[in-house]
Amino acid sequence: MRAEIISVGTELLLGEIVDTNAAFLSEELAALGIELYHRTTVGDNAQRLKQAITEALARVDLVLTSGGLGPTADDLTKETVAEVLGLSLVLDRPSLEAIESYFAKTGRPMTENNYKQALIPEGGAALPNRKGTAPGVSVRKGGKWVVCLPGPPQELIPMFREYVRPQLEAESRGVIRSRVLRLYGMGESTLVQEIADLLSKQTNPALAPLASEGEVRLRITASAETVAEAEAAIIGLERKLRARLGHTIYGVDDETLEAVVVGFLKQRGETLAVAESCTGGLLANRITDVPGASAVFDRGVVAYSNRSKEELLGIPAAVIERAGAVSPEVATLMAQGVRDRTGSDWGIGITGIAGPGGGTAEKPVGLVYFALVGPGVSLVREARFTGDRQQIKRRTTQAVLDLFRRTLLPVNPES
Ligand code: AMP
Ligand code: MG
Repeated sequence: MRAEIISVGTELLLGEIVDTNAAFLSEELAALGIELYHRTTVGDNAQRLKQAITEALARVDLVLTSGGLGPTADDLTKETVAEVLGLSLVLDRPSLEAIESYFAKTGRPMTENNYKQALIPEGGAALPNRKGTAPGVSVRKGGKWVVCLPGPPQELIPMFREYVRPQLEAESRGVIRSRVLRLYGMGESTLVQEIADLLSKQTNPALAPLASEGEVRLRITASAETVAEAEAAIIGLERKLRARLGHTIYGVDDETLEAVVVGFLKQRGETLAVAESCTGGLLANRITDVPGASAVFDRGVVAYSNRSKEELLGIPAAVIERAGAVSPEVATLMAQGVRDRTGSDWGIGITGIAGPGGGTAEKPVGLVYFALVGPGVSLVREARFTGDRQQIKRRTTQAVLDLFRRTLLPVNPES
């Protein structure tokens, strides 16, 4: 099966928003083994949208659109799809009822133009929208299939997963399954060398590396006749990769470093408190993003000023004076201080220069010290990160979480 994506919205052409929907849909189609050769972006303009849909349908059998399903006059996608396919728009009762109950629930008045959202091309199916008012549409005619999805990603993504993906899976022959291995501590270029032999062949299962903020992901995709076969193929390749990459692999699919760390602490029945300077609470924020973190996370202290490091963590002013606030000594005392004062099993201390100002030749922007103190453990690390303030903060928390993860590993620490 071959597909195209049409992203609709003048704001996309103006660069006001980034087309994350097209990226999401592209990734999903690739995982389904559906070929995508073109992606088009078009503004809220009836004539150009009509041209885009007509051209796409001349090339492929499946067209997915994003956006332009709203109640306002510039939302034209369904109308234009209906026109291109030579269908009229009809009222879909269940959609109208869903829109009415959405407004009743939110207590907002429903305006006349919202009825327009319940219109769908005749013979088409409305795709319920659980996160908003505009239903999606799936409509087929003469061997062509058009799926219209709403613009807001929080509506498009669940609608695609719930209603569109199962249909695509059913219609593409065989099954496709994939798993993402998440790695920390090895750059993409080194990784690609390490597994060159597994990457070089266009094989099934296929292997694709993706570098993203402070980590690398490896996607394994297998196509097979049955789910069991596809999964067996994935497990086979995953074993080879694990044998070669060891504990560089920290998780799979949506698993985060913070979730792995919280999981280990839960297993051990141990608690954590953190003292952060340059990361401003980001580490605490990431840890508390994990459901159930309250079982292991006691507190986080943002000790930004020297005075707060003295008052909240008991660090002697003389040490800060002598070693500097950004130093291995202070990182260690922050970890010890927060651990001792809270009675937690583990303490983490982070201090660094997030920039863009404040760097010196001796202590440049991006220099970070972080320390981990726990039962029989006292570690301190120096790192030099590049990037802007947000990137340095994010990369610091990645490095801290990975050090902690490796320390908590049941076997082969630091491997
Ligand atoms: P629309 O359904 O076209 O009125 O879009 C409604 C909102 O969804 C827009 O204002 C954007 O915030 C968001 N949106 C629309 N298209 C996209 C897209 N391709 N990628 C990400 N967000 C989008
Ligand atoms: Mg729009």
